[in-house]
Amino acid sequence: MALRNILTLPDETLTKKSKEVISFDDKLWVLLDDMYDTLQKHEGVGIAAVQVGILRRVIVIDTGEDEDGVIELINPEIIQTEGTQREMEGCLSCPDMWGYVKRPEYIKVKYMNRYGKPQTKEAEELLAIVISHEIDHLNGVVFPDVADEMVDEKEAEAERERKPHRKKKRRVRE
Ligand SMILES: [Zn+2]
Repeated sequence: MALRNILTLPDETLTKKSKEVISFDDKLWVLLDDMYDTLQKHEGVGIAAVQVGILRRVIVIDTGEDEDGVIELINPEIIQTEGTQREMEGCLSCPDMWGYVKRPEYIKVKYMNRYGKPQTKEAEELLAIVISHEIDHLNGVVFPDVADEMVDEKEAEAERERKPHRKKKRRVRE
């Protein structure tokens, strides 16, 4: 198990665009495994490589919902969206910041797995939010850039109480 340091605002690396992965090798697998360990340690639901200072298009997600499992997305691209949802988000790279963001209710994403094999996935609700949030990171966008309203800790706590299905993790942070 190896933990990596998480970059936080205002680190300007977070504003940079990540590059496509071209080598699906040991180095990538170590990065993926380290990102998973780091995500677990910080009780997050998703992490992009840029958040540990690696400007590559790599995402690891674990929503804590059994049916989703652990999801690794390499070079992901959203190919279809439907509807909108507006939920409160947080971010491992934006400590103590919470805000509402409008995202698609449904997305279809194409990506590669850790062996370079093309895949597609459909996602709704929380998983659609997390994937959209992480893909924003790959493009140098953090959620306060796209939030329509930021809220304080007290209001964030009240919102979590209203959303019991999101309490499996202490806080939903991407
Ligand atoms: Zn984030």
